[in-house]
Amino acid sequence: MSVSFFSGSTSFKQQWPFISERLDQIIDDGKFTNGPTVQELERKLENFTGAKHCIAVGNATDALMIMLRAAGVGIGDEVIVPCYSFFASASSIAHVGATPVFCDIDPSTYTIDVEQIEHQITQRTKAIMPVHLFTQMADMTVIRQIAERHNLLVLEDSAEAISMFHEGKHAGRLGNAGVISFFPTKTLGAIGDAGLILTDDDTIADQARLLRIHGQNEGVPYIHQRVGYNSRMDDIQAAILIVRLEFLQQEIARRAYLAALYNRKLANISQVHTPLIKKRGDETANAVYYVYLLETEQRDDLVAYLTQHGIGTEVYYPFPLHTQPCFSHLGYQEGDMPHAEQAARRAVGLPMYPDMTDEQVDEVCEQIHLFFAKGDE
Ligand SMILES: *Cc1c(COP(=O)(O)O)cnc(C)c1O
Repeated sequence: MSVSFFSGSTSFKQQWPFISERLDQIIDDGKFTNGPTVQELERKLENFTGAKHCIAVGNATDALMIMLRAAGVGIGDEVIVPCYSFFASASSIAHVGATPVFCDIDPSTYTIDVEQIEHQITQRTKAIMPVHLFTQMADMTVIRQIAERHNLLVLEDSAEAISMFHEGKHAGRLGNAGVISFFPTKTLGAIGDAGLILTDDDTIADQARLLRIHGQNEGVPYIHQRVGYNSRMDDIQAAILIVRLEFLQQEIARRAYLAALYNRKLANISQVHTPLIKKRGDETANAVYYVYLLETEQRDDLVAYLTQHGIGTEVYYPFPLHTQPCFSHLGYQEGDMPHAEQAARRAVGLPMYPDMTDEQVDEVCEQIHLFFAKGDE
């Protein structure tokens, strides 16, 4: 039995009748970008997240750039960001003319090591960008305290964090603004690219709405207040997301079930570490298994073995951001961020999506057992 790293076809086929009805309507209306369906999605996501403003854009990489500029981050500013993340966390900062200042991660959660943040603050620091990675949020209580002490913005890369909450607030609402990605493999995926900015701040929201359409005020075309972007969401993607939002809690519950199954079946392999969900303060951590990440010293051999046996995996993230060629001018060395570098050597994402069957999890775990048994011979 082969198990692909990602598949959404079963749930998509179930949801298709609801989607198809909406697509017919969109084609009849002829409003294909930033139209009424996009607005309907924005209102639904405001309701879901509790955010005062949800602003739909083309993808979450754009959302990060637009959020940074809308919040006033620009040339000469520094933004503190973990070095273990998807590239866009740092590229967005560089794109707006600011400098990413990297921190190592807490190796147990893969989120920014809050102990390091204050050491990185300078006169030029304008914002902290925590990243909520794989299953859980960064330590927002501490990050907010640091930001308050130093008068910094908190701009969350909550691209992976739909339905993650901290102290009852949705990710992206703990600081000044946040983003969500609807890339197909994400917890709430479109069938193509789509993204979102969320904020309770009226000024950031106004600026974000302006920047997403070439710096124009809505309804006032051809007058450009700022040099913005072309980053509209397609109504077709919005229609898909509206339908899929209805199934989200059920799909997240399925992910949690699959994660528990993995945890149980992999528990007795001494060479692997299964994900740890950290309780923050006295609240129960609220995990959403976007990625099920395993750590092992034999990562590369395990990946090769699983590939050979028809099991898809994805290495998140093989090269930490401070070691990327495009950031070499920032002067970081290999060895500067030992926890991120260790995770980059040891971590691998296993298949994790609502369509997975129990038998597929069995198969993945069985192959992992066989791999390590082979090593013991
Ligand atoms: C997916 C992701 C992004 C980028 O999202 P896109 O919609 O693909 O542009 C940014 N940051 C993190 C942490 C992500 O996982």
